[in-house]
Amino acid sequence: MSDWLKEVELLTLKGQISVPYTWWAGDTATKFFYALRDRQKIIGNRCAKCGKVFVPPRKNCGHCFVAIDEWVEIADEGVIEAFTIVHYAYAVQPVKPPFAYALIKLDGADVSFLHLIKKDLDKIKNGCRVKARFKADRTAHILDIDSFELI
Ligand SMILES: [Zn+2]
Repeated sequence: MSDWLKEVELLTLKGQISVPYTWWAGDTATKFFYALRDRQKIIGNRCAKCGKVFVPPRKNCGHCFVAIDEWVEIADEGVIEAFTIVHYAYAVQPVKPPFAYALIKLDGADVSFLHLIKKDLDKIKNGCRVKARFKADRTAHILDIDSFELI
């Protein structure tokens, strides 16, 4: 260590690096993503014990701690429960701002689904109805749903 550093409190800064990786989505998420890609359908699953319907689907119910194996088709429409409009660009964002992240309770689901709204940002309010718009070229990814649009 240099002599001049001995009298200096060392400064540490947090940083972030990009680390490309691949991961197995698991059987539950795989089925969900394949339904988006192959059928343009949003599917969830229902807990046999409490009856809650989850979208995206879960392997186990977080309330009852039981495995979930009943699949249900969910509407591609729902209601905005909360949202935030993004104006500042950041490297990990899925699209260029401005856009909105919205928690959408799809018809038939008991939990909210986080996705994007790209248009009519000045008209978004909690309670607005929205509909999924699928991409023409899908890859079994959450962004096979391009975004949700106000209806
Ligand atoms: Zn449950």
